[in-house]
Parts: sequence; C-alpha cells; structure tokens
Amino acid sequence: MKQVLTTCPYCGTGCTFYLNVEDDRIVSVTPNDANSVNQGILCLKGHFGFDFVDNKTRLTNPLIRKNGELVEASWDEAIDLVASKMKETIEQHGPDALAAFSSARCTNEENYLMQKLMRAVVGTNNIDHCARL
Ligand code: SF4
Repeated sequence: MKQVLTTCPYCGTGCTFYLNVEDDRIVSVTPNDANSVNQGILCLKGHFGFDFVDNKTRLTNPLIRKNGELVEASWDEAIDLVASKMKETIEQHGPDALAAFSSARCTNEENYLMQKLMRAVVGTNNIDHCARL
C-alpha cells in the first residue's frame, strides 16, 4: 500500500491526511498527526468521504438531453451548448436572468474565475458561494 499526503478538499480548514492507495484505488484515510491544524483528527467527511472516487455511477462525461434522452457528449459539445443557452437567455431576458453558484470544493483561483465570468463576461453580480453563510 502506498501513502499519499494530501489536503482535504471538503472545506477551507486545511486538515491533512494520508490517502492509503492500493492498485490505484483509495482504500482508507489516515489522519496526519504532524499537522498543527487537525492534529491527527478528521471530521466524518475528511475521514470517510472518498468512496465516490471509484463509484461506478460517477459521471465522467457530460450528458446532453436529446429527444428526451440523456446522451454522452464531448466537452466541446457540452460547453458550446451551455454557452449558446446562456447567450440566448441574456439576449431574451438580460444578464440578471442568469446566476452562478460556486463551491468550496473549487480552488480560490477557480472561484475567482467564476465571479469574473459572471461579472465581466455575462454582466451580472448574481454570483454566490456555498460557504458564504
Ligand atoms: S476533515 Fe473536515 S474539517 Fe478538516 S478540512 Fe476536511 S471537511 Fe474540513
């Protein structure tokens, strides 16, 4: 088993732990005793929240609804569709008809880019974040 030191992605506290990896699969998590932030302790999410990585039902490709059915699409196709729908909505109802919700699971840089997209490109301040409250 290989151990990989990493930082928990679930919130901004900054707990660290070792992912115990066998055959390229995460089998368990060991808290990092040497980190002064969590001192060997993790909450439930940090300790047990990584089964999703190998879940067979996890989406790995975008899905687009065609004739009432969700079908796999390329990233280019999915992004083009979303961009055209956003543009159509802005033309018909104005930029404030759109809103975006970002996530604490994203990096600071990704959250910055999301608000920049909404404010500078779309033209609305309708941007929020799951960890704001
Ligand atoms: S283990 Fe819990 S408290 Fe620590 S960073 Fe992860 S989610 Fe936050």
